[in-house]
Amino acid sequence: MIEVNENLLYFLDGKPYINMTNACTNACVFCVRDQKEDVQGAKLWLDKDNILANDVIKQIELKKDVILNCSEIVFCGYGEPLIRVDEVVRVSKYLKEKYPNLKIRINTNGHANAIHKRNVVLELAPYIDIISVSLNAQNEEVYNKISNPKIENAYEEVKRFIRACVEEKIFTIASVVANVPNYPVDIQRCEVIAKSLGAKFRVRDFIPNGY
Ligand code: SF4
Repeated sequence: MIEVNENLLYFLDGKPYINMTNACTNACVFCVRDQKEDVQGAKLWLDKDNILANDVIKQIELKKDVILNCSEIVFCGYGEPLIRVDEVVRVSKYLKEKYPNLKIRINTNGHANAIHKRNVVLELAPYIDIISVSLNAQNEEVYNKISNPKIENAYEEVKRFIRACVEEKIFTIASVVANVPNYPVDIQRCEVIAKSLGAKFRVRDFIPNGY
């Protein structure tokens, strides 16, 4: 069992986030985890990386009164949450049962189906209200430069994942980071691609040194 002083649950501007893992199949040039160990004072590097749903649920229970007053909770930490998809599904199922008014959102790199070699969207769809997938670029070449993926055909996998989320009627956002120094992200082309996949589109500004 993970010690409760690991930040599996943390808050930014009063909003709850769940930090499942340090692992990621990307190494994005703008990733905050290469720059510092904390986000607004919450240390997110986990000393152990075998987080189980019960470890997270235990921390949620400790903050029950705060969570009851929140409208949304987000799976987003220092790694890719869907690497731990079975645990994400277990935590989400628990949240839907205990906090039916709480919207559940996942921020993801969109590699999960390639990593797990199955359509995990089918497992997530009953519980997840919103999914934000990092499209990051208008083509494979730029994507590879920005995200340095460790899986094959990552850009195509991301687009397939976005489409799979849309097909399961999860509110799906394809996101890009604008103004990353030296990386030619074509925002307009990204928007066209996001919409052609049936997703909403979101641009987030590059923030040096993270949040
Ligand atoms: S996908 Fe997210 S966690 Fe992974 S390297 Fe990129 S910004 Fe960091």
